[in-house]
Amino acid sequence: MKAFEYGINISRLRKNLEELASFGGNKEGGISRLAFGAEDMKARAWLREKMEAAGLYSRIDEAGNVFGRLGNEGPAVWAGSHLDTVPNGGMFDGALGVLAALECLQTICERQLPFRWPLEVVAFSDEEGTYKSFFGSKAITGLLTTEELACARNMNGQALAHVLSAVGMDIQRINRARIDHGQIRAYLELHIEQGPLLESKLISIGLVRSIVGIVSYQMAFLGTPNHAGTTPLELRRDAFLGAAEFSLKVYDWVRSTTSGVVNIGKVDLYPGAFNIVPGRARLALEFRSPSSEGLEVMEKKILSLGNEISRKKGLKFSASKVSWDSAVRLDDTIIQLLQEEAETLGYDYRIMNSGAGHDAQIMARATRAGMIFIPSIGGKSHSPEEACSWDAVERGATLLLHGLLRLAREKKQSK
Ligand SMILES: [Zn+2]
Repeated sequence: MKAFEYGINISRLRKNLEELASFGGNKEGGISRLAFGAEDMKARAWLREKMEAAGLYSRIDEAGNVFGRLGNEGPAVWAGSHLDTVPNGGMFDGALGVLAALECLQTICERQLPFRWPLEVVAFSDEEGTYKSFFGSKAITGLLTTEELACARNMNGQALAHVLSAVGMDIQRINRARIDHGQIRAYLELHIEQGPLLESKLISIGLVRSIVGIVSYQMAFLGTPNHAGTTPLELRRDAFLGAAEFSLKVYDWVRSTTSGVVNIGKVDLYPGAFNIVPGRARLALEFRSPSSEGLEVMEKKILSLGNEISRKKGLKFSASKVSWDSAVRLDDTIIQLLQEEAETLGYDYRIMNSGAGHDAQIMARATRAGMIFIPSIGGKSHSPEEACSWDAVERGATLLLHGLLRLAREKKQSK
């Protein structure tokens, strides 16, 4: 088979990406299409129209996931990503994976390329976690717990149950979105890298081996609030100093010892005044590692540093786990298949890990999952400056098409 016997229509894909960017787009080029907001709901309706026009059968499930299917009943090969964005995000994160998958199925349909298994485009709800990260993919795979649903809230404290009923959905019916895992033969996701590696090494394609695991903790150092003028320095039990020493030690240890990263994204001091020694310091801490063993090692060390430093300073330390998403290794046979297709197409590639979370890590618990990255210009993402070249988009979507066709033409037993 010649490498370019079939290819996607890049001008149509570009037009679709630009059209989708108008939902929630602002004058500065940023996009705020937050999950279940008015713009996100409009984008879903727009996508369904595009799917129908492309010759696909479209539907929306109880969790708001949008599907477009090509072919009959039976286990299908899936491709997709998410339509929602972070506040003031960019036009490629998520949107690329959904619209490239649509473009691939439209190409297959138009050119009547033969396939054995049905193909399905999926746009997952709330990947970015406006209410609950990976909400849509977790609902489909049956990984959403009742507790998670009950405590899902946005930054303003608005409950998921409330926003769902405002858009005509019902939190009690979310579990109906679950799909028997046997109905999904494989899942592919094309995404921008959101980091600088591919661009800096001048590599066109990244094939993802592992997606980092992410753990978040609320931590607190407790000391004694006191008068900041009359209490001698050596007699203070200053919660902030405990938190500060802890932060520096954690960063040093993570940098020198692990292949992970750590972030302390929020620190609150109480009571919080010029003239009061801080009695309590609260920290929002997150750490990531490409392996689950790595996460466990990091958790143990970080907690022991908290205890050690607080003891030394006469403080109390507490830590409560907010979330734990394990690291996921994607399917080796899919990496192999994409590698072969990239070689046939003459694309240079690198096998790499993803430092960002993606729906593919949830889908990997249900089926064989694979991810294709294309370079992000300047490594920027979650920002209006997020960009990639149209050549890169074309290469990524073409590889996706080739990967999908390989999977959709598999013999029965190769699931
Ligand atoms: Zn994304």
